[in-house]
Amino acid sequence: MAVILKGADVAQAKKPAIMARVDALKAMGICPALGIVMVGNRDDSQAYARGALKALSACGIDCNVANFPRDIKQQQLLEEIRAMNADIKVHGILVMRPIPPAIEWEAVENMVSPQKDVDCIASQNLSKVFKGERDGFNPCTAQAVMEVLEHYGISVAGKRAVVIGRSLVVGKPVAMMLLQRNATVTICHSKTSELARVTSGADIIVAAAGTAGLVKSEHVKKGSIVLDVGINVVDGKLTGDVDFKQVEPYVSMITPVPGGIGSVTTSVLMENILTAAERLAGKT
Ligand code: NAD
Repeated sequence: MAVILKGADVAQAKKPAIMARVDALKAMGICPALGIVMVGNRDDSQAYARGALKALSACGIDCNVANFPRDIKQQQLLEEIRAMNADIKVHGILVMRPIPPAIEWEAVENMVSPQKDVDCIASQNLSKVFKGERDGFNPCTAQAVMEVLEHYGISVAGKRAVVIGRSLVVGKPVAMMLLQRNATVTICHSKTSELARVTSGADIIVAAAGTAGLVKSEHVKKGSIVLDVGINVVDGKLTGDVDFKQVEPYVSMITPVPGGIGSVTTSVLMENILTAAERLAGKT
């Protein structure tokens, strides 16, 4: 039976250090705060914001949701983000995706101040991930994958890692971070032919395709480690990119969905907000 890599255990282990950093900031008169930018009333964004609000406030971090109508003009949205950049009470800014097609994502990502860009959408921060520089912010989900590996003492140096997915928010950055830790990394995507042939040679698989149950028993090598980033809703139930029932008997370690990577993402978000607040206060 595989070891289940539980995100809640990772999040719990992180909590004391997070609380200590919040206390230290509050002792300086700073209440760390996140501003969430939401455009349109999407159910998934609302659900995420509710979850973040609850988790952040439980740790003493403020969370203000700015909800704009779907038909907001691009220029107005950019002005709103500019105001958040200038607001000394906001330390991190998170823009919920997707945004309506009438608004250029590139304009939004270039407007968020790199100093408050806690989910790493600004080019300046993304380039730091690719260069391996540590003074930016790593995308929360990609970092959550690395945190799970670290918490469970899984060394990636010299291992063959296959990342399924090449988005800028998960696939590419997680591949770069694995490379930084000396894994031999292959990135697969929707045009990869014979996916199972590639993934079945991997010691570590990171599945971030957004396709429910994509990874089956034929995709994994016996004894490998599988991290499932996917969040899909099938018949009203949350499910990952990995067919857990099929894959679990073959692998040595696996993250569940729900209860895996997603549970760690919020902790990483909090850490990024605290880092932003500390840097803005000149503490680091
Ligand atoms: P995306 O749609 O931007 O990218 C998906 C990637 O997967 C693409 O590069 C595509 O080429 C690849 N892909 C799609 N189908 C494939 C297939 N059949 N075979 C191989 N590659 C395939 O998605 P994203 O934003 O990167 O998110 C990926 C998944 O991670 C989604 O399920 C998303 O909901 C989830 N996610 C989870 C968290 C978390 O905290 N756990 C956070 C963000 C995203």
